[in-house]
Amino acid sequence: MPLSLHDTYAREKREFTPRDPSRVTLYVCGPTVYNYAHIGNARPVVVFDVLFRLLRRRYGDEAVVYARNITDVDDKINAKAIEQGVPIGEITDKFAAIYEADMGALGALTPTLQPRATGHIDEMLDQIGRLVNAGSAYAAEGHVLFDTTSFPDYGKLSNRSLDDMIAGARVEVAPYKQNPADFVLWKPSKPGEPEWPSPWGPGRPGWHIECSAMIEAVLGLPIDIHGGGHDLTFPHHENEIAQGRCATHGGEYARYWMHNGFLTMDAEKMSKSLGNVLLVHDLVERWPGEVVRWALLSGHYRAPLNWTDALLEQAKTSLDRLYRVLSDLKRFLSGSAGLPVVDFANVEKLHEAAGTLSRLEDDLNTPAAMGGLFALADGIRAQLLLNSKADRQVLADHLGALQEAAGLMGFLAADPDAWFQGSADTGLKDKVEALIAARATARASKDWPEADRIRGELTALNVEVLDGPGGTATWRIKE
Ligand code: AMP
Ligand code: ZN
Repeated sequence: MPLSLHDTYAREKREFTPRDPSRVTLYVCGPTVYNYAHIGNARPVVVFDVLFRLLRRRYGDEAVVYARNITDVDDKINAKAIEQGVPIGEITDKFAAIYEADMGALGALTPTLQPRATGHIDEMLDQIGRLVNAGSAYAAEGHVLFDTTSFPDYGKLSNRSLDDMIAGARVEVAPYKQNPADFVLWKPSKPGEPEWPSPWGPGRPGWHIECSAMIEAVLGLPIDIHGGGHDLTFPHHENEIAQGRCATHGGEYARYWMHNGFLTMDAEKMSKSLGNVLLVHDLVERWPGEVVRWALLSGHYRAPLNWTDALLEQAKTSLDRLYRVLSDLKRFLSGSAGLPVVDFANVEKLHEAAGTLSRLEDDLNTPAAMGGLFALADGIRAQLLLNSKADRQVLADHLGALQEAAGLMGFLAADPDAWFQGSADTGLKDKVEALIAARATARASKDWPEADRIRGELTALNVEVLDGPGGTATWRIKE
């Protein structure tokens, strides 16, 4: 089954073939680290994490190089550093660490490379120098600007003409520009802002050059896949292409372009100015990371996703259903010799039959792929219902296939008991543990009325006690 991906540049789904299957390159524009990431910012992280997992399965873990940059010099970072009277590094280190932890809580694998803009200023200056030499950029009043008229393909990614771009108010008008659509590669810093020396005067890089220079430096051009939110198509990615191609005399830049749709709340874009921002940091306090991840992947990545509490509730219900099967299976096994060795060929067959992989390979159709997880869980459930007649090999193989399919999307990584205990607060957990211990003591001294009384108390707390072999017991919050 080929992997097909929707390519923004081609405006259609295309079969993915890497330039070199032993080194598949993926780059996704990462965060500007000056505050907490909102749930919209997490959408590209989780979507491209699924792609990363899929590519690793296809080409091998070592063959896929995934870079996600960290923008650690920017107007907003500078403003915050000046406001707090600290160096920018203090702000950016703090929020880069928070970002990594929050995205980790959503089950996102750490990218292979996380280049920081300030670590690649020399490469940016080198790329700017080549653009100036090639006649694609010019210096003016301490700035260096890209001359958009020098690149005939400018606008091809976002499907806009130069006139459209100028009409759209997104281009900044400035006296030193030769053409209104020209954009900044280098600019002087304001007093108090960080600056680096350059042949055009001291200053700092523009945002777009960061990505094209880091891509060239850490991945090499051309790369296979470039991703980001669809708002980045213009001007950011359009400008990256112009820079990357002109600096390499027309060479290829990225072979496939992928863009995720926007996450909205009540049909409005999530943004700080609208005041409808939900932070990942807060959401993962209230919900298991996998629930938030499930909600993010419950719609196709290219479509807009409307974020509601109901979406999270549904995600929780879906994951509970899968974890309950795992929890029941674990209990079924606890009194016996465990499962037989999995038959890998059969696991692959079941995995394929469930359709998870083929749906993911069809332009990351995660909502359809989720259906495959339920099919596999139903296979386990059907065996468990047979009790002592359950076919242990069927259970082992279905479990293997379910774990593999879920792993591709980053689900079912938790212990099933911990999953159901997770919704209990620490006070309740302590109370339940104490009651279970007291019940064990009562049972050991054959005080059955007391043991029953305690079980009743646990039931009243909505806790189900699951007795295991040798007097051990575990528990979970009831459905
Ligand atoms: P920013 O920090 O604004 O540059 O955004 C980081 C990443 O999140 C970019 O890939 C954006 O396209 C993406 N992004 C920002 N807001 C949203 C949103 N509401 N929905 C989906 N993606 C978003
Ligand atoms: Zn970028």
